[in-house]
Amino acid sequence: MEKTKFQAESKELLNLMINSIYSNKEIFLREIISNASDAIDKYHYNVLTSNGELKDRNYEILINADKNNRVLSITDNGIGLTKEELVENLGVIAKSGSKEFINKLKEIKDDSKVDIIGQFGVGFYSVFMVAKNIQVITKSYKDKTGYIFESEGKDTFSIDEYPNANDGTTINIFLKDDTKDENYSKYLDQYEIQDLVKKYSDYVRYPIKMNFTISKQDLDDKGEPIENKYHDEQELRTLNSMIPLWKKNKKDISEKELNEFYKSKYYDSEDPLLSIYVNVEGMISYNALIFIPAHAPYDLYSDNYEKGLNLYVKGIFIKDRVKELIPDYLKFARGLVDSNDLNLNISREMLQESVQLRRIRDNIESKIVSELKKLKENDFDKYVKFFELYGTFVKYGIYTSYGSKSELLKDLLIYKSLKHEDKPISLKQYVSEMNKEQKFIYFASGSSYESIKLMPQIDLFKKKDIDVLLFKEPVDEFSIMSLREYDKKEFKSISNEDVDVLSEEEKENIKNLNIENKELLDKIKDCLKDKVDDVVLSSKLTNAPVCLSNKDGLTLEMEETLNKMPGNENQEAYKASKVLEINPNHDLFKGIKSLKDSDELEDYANLLYDQAMLIQGFSIKDPEAFINLLTKIMVKSIK
Ligand code: ADP
Repeated sequence: MEKTKFQAESKELLNLMINSIYSNKEIFLREIISNASDAIDKYHYNVLTSNGELKDRNYEILINADKNNRVLSITDNGIGLTKEELVENLGVIAKSGSKEFINKLKEIKDDSKVDIIGQFGVGFYSVFMVAKNIQVITKSYKDKTGYIFESEGKDTFSIDEYPNANDGTTINIFLKDDTKDENYSKYLDQYEIQDLVKKYSDYVRYPIKMNFTISKQDLDDKGEPIENKYHDEQELRTLNSMIPLWKKNKKDISEKELNEFYKSKYYDSEDPLLSIYVNVEGMISYNALIFIPAHAPYDLYSDNYEKGLNLYVKGIFIKDRVKELIPDYLKFARGLVDSNDLNLNISREMLQESVQLRRIRDNIESKIVSELKKLKENDFDKYVKFFELYGTFVKYGIYTSYGSKSELLKDLLIYKSLKHEDKPISLKQYVSEMNKEQKFIYFASGSSYESIKLMPQIDLFKKKDIDVLLFKEPVDEFSIMSLREYDKKEFKSISNEDVDVLSEEEKENIKNLNIENKELLDKIKDCLKDKVDDVVLSSKLTNAPVCLSNKDGLTLEMEETLNKMPGNENQEAYKASKVLEINPNHDLFKGIKSLKDSDELEDYANLLYDQAMLIQGFSIKDPEAFINLLTKIMVKSIK
């Protein structure tokens, strides 16, 4: 018998499985049954697209428990595997999910490895948690002969011809011996198997059958039962209910069922944050189940993340993660769509152009959004959790649609604010709490809430009792820019020069002060050259000597974000129009006034500018020059 070595990565996963101390070993049955069901789906799909060449079979999955030999067998009459497919699919890890799984395992510390096994579709190899060796006897519809694949899950596997194989696949699992801690024999117990099938595989669309041994009372000649006399009879039972959950009536589905379905289908140990059942009858009819995971998929932020919903046509599985079914900004949602109105022959390439699919997508998008709005109304705490996990995507949704999704999505936005630091508020709430004179919705941006609260401009808003939304993600400003306004109130950064919160009297006073000091201010502006567009005295500041503001257009934060984007590094491609605002009541200004005609003015002007940059959370462009200046002034003051 020819032996082939497992590919390195497969070996790693096998090792992990064999030595698994994962408590949930029973999931191996779910994995094997799910493969069997997929195999039947694939065969059935081929029948439907083969123009009559292939014939349908009486599809079923059979389980057999042989207690004497400790072998559990699962047989399907699906697509089967050719020799090459055996090597490709069972001999190496072809599946990208498993590769990622291993990579992830490598990253994390030993003691938490166990927990994450359950979160992945570890697939076929999970049988090695319970098997000392396995046989896969299979015959593909493409082949004349069958094959037997055998492995102990250690280093090698073998593949030989097996002429007597039936169409489809049988997996023989030779169970491990029982140990002190682990009872493997239970997987041969008919009631245990029945329970496992109910628990994990109830919605599999093909009958999962097993011979049940039942004890029956003996009957006498007249057909009456004889007391205390029993005999065993075999009865072939179907263990699963088979109706796909999404085809049931909404009223017949419990929240618990939806949650269990999600967990077993998407390998999650936690209930989803939100389950959405959709049944649409209309121009295009379809059923869908959509789930929002309670924790972000581990690879959500990686480039490899594949968004999409699973697509079924007339109950037949067509494709995993069809990306055309969900907009980018909802890519964290999982689920499936089943439509009778799509063509079964829809080729996988045609998905992209399908108008019907696009219709379903738009429809699903609005369903998800409206369910989220409901959640926000009915269970705000849960909504906050949703937004913490996925709010960034919603903001990107607004930003990347150039405002076309503003109407749809604006009420999903929530923010912490100066007055609501603990619990975020919606824009609607912000507007409802605005005082009569307030014209704008104010926001402040920074890299953290702490740094925002240090912004010199904040004091003014506190003093005037005006709330300010706190933005700590770069996308916040960009999405707001796409929104433009909420309830006819425009957004304004608190670092905008023209925040318009001063009283008429305050405005008049500061205007006069600026006129009085015009010569000095112009000189400071000259010293700063093209760093700023204006230098003014300001009544916004209480404690701080200076701050930087911007005129309408790009804000300082946007300038920073845009210039940091790939391709723009070290360039100053984007420029906000900056204004240096000086506090006329601060001692520092009083001092500077006396330097009006001195050469030293330039040093002080530059230091003021750098100081303003720093306090606002930006880095200064030329730290060396800054330190030199500071040192120079320190030395002078010590002398
Ligand atoms: P997954 O099913 O998630 O792709 P698995 O490790 O469970 O990963 O299985 C690997 C591959 O082996 C499957 O994708 C499929 O091609 C093949 N396979 C497994 N079981 C069967 C089966 N019963 N019939 C046909 N092919 C199978």
